[in-house]
Amino acid sequence: MKRLFPAIFIALFFTAALSAGGQKARSGAGNPGAVNVVTTIFPSYDFVRVIAGDKANLTLLLPPGAESHSFEPTPQDIIRVQNSALFIYVGGESDEWVDRILDSIDTSKIKILALMDAVEVVEEEIVEGMEEEEEEEEGVAYDEHVWTSPKNAALIVQAITDALCGIDGANAGLYRQNTAAYLAALNELDGEFQTVVNNARRKTLVFGDRFPFRYFADAYGLSYFAAFLGCSTETECSAATIAFLIDKVKDEKIPVVFHIELSNEKIADTIAEATGAKKLLFHACHNITRRDFDNGLTYMDLQRNNVGRLREALQ
Ligand SMILES: [Zn+2]
Repeated sequence: MKRLFPAIFIALFFTAALSAGGQKARSGAGNPGAVNVVTTIFPSYDFVRVIAGDKANLTLLLPPGAESHSFEPTPQDIIRVQNSALFIYVGGESDEWVDRILDSIDTSKIKILALMDAVEVVEEEIVEGMEEEEEEEEGVAYDEHVWTSPKNAALIVQAITDALCGIDGANAGLYRQNTAAYLAALNELDGEFQTVVNNARRKTLVFGDRFPFRYFADAYGLSYFAAFLGCSTETECSAATIAFLIDKVKDEKIPVVFHIELSNEKIADTIAEATGAKKLLFHACHNITRRDFDNGLTYMDLQRNNVGRLREALQ
């Protein structure tokens, strides 16, 4: 399948060239002189929006509401990457499609930035009670949800700013100014999470869902129990896993069981019903719904909502 890619790409390229257009909401308006920036997922899209404003023709490849782990690029997406001056992706196991695109196009004029290169990465971790993956991974699997910690978000923002300044020196002063303000806001957010944790009665989170918060938990010294690894494709979990999580919630009188965004929430529902715990969303910011996207929701909005929910869960 992978070997067929270049041929398919060429065929699709011409098809797409004939049917350009669409996806306007996620694409820049074609501001002349602006830098073409393409990002794969929402957090990096939002960071560029903050740093560059209308100095970037910004495109988000992952459609709002779509599942980020099973994304397949359209021919138009491939053209957008080819025409970008800055292309930002995550660099993890969900991004195999990115490698296929980059292998098939001329990247000599594109600055390519992987979020995972901007931070110190850690491996995915199986904790007690969690479902093991059925497919054995080859080699080390690093957790790709680097943006979930505000401390990492600051490093990522800095890396994006450096890249933009390298491409568009004329606007570097503006980018640096916007970045300084945003880094201050991220620092404040980090302080809010830290205050919640410092004043908390407990340090344990329970997720009746996947757990893409390894970096977040590490940043604040939190422990966790969850049904699946961060990027697991499993949606059904064993009775033993559910029973383990229910026992944890009961034994430690944990008040909140979390689910993540765009989840079917079934496991969290089951645990909540069995224990009386409250079910709440803890947003991993992979992606947002079309409605939230149209309303201009930001990474900062999502994380500020998380602050209050964390406070409830740790009380
Ligand atoms: Zn993920």
